[in-house]
Amino acid sequence: MEEKEIQALVMAGVDKEVNLRPLNGFKLDFSANPGFKKVFFSASCDCGTAALLSLEVSEEKTDIDIKAALPSLIQRIEMQEKSFRRMDCSMHSMMRTGFTPDSGN
Ligand SMILES: [Zn+2]
Repeated sequence: MEEKEIQALVMAGVDKEVNLRPLNGFKLDFSANPGFKKVFFSASCDCGTAALLSLEVSEEKTDIDIKAALPSLIQRIEMQEKSFRRMDCSMHSMMRTGFTPDSGN
C-alpha cells in the first residue's frame, strides 16, 4: 500500500474535530528506522503554528494488515493531534522556530 493510500484511509477515519492535513512527498527521514514507511500529517493551530505528526508502518505489512491496524493508527494520530492542540499558544510559538510544513515543499 502506498503512503498516500494510508493517509487517505487515516484521514477518512479520524474524528471530525481532529484538524489534520496529509503531507505528501515529505522525504526527510527523522527516525532512521529502516523497514518502516513513514506517513506524515500536519496539525495546525489558529495561532499559525503547525506540527509535524507521523505514523510508522512496517514495510512488511500487507494491505490487509494495514487495514486491520487502521483503528490503532487512527488512534495514534488523533492522540498526537490532541496533545498538540492541548498545548497553549505560548508553547506553540516556541515550536514555530523549529518546523514549518509549508516551507520547502
Ligand atoms: Zn496555538
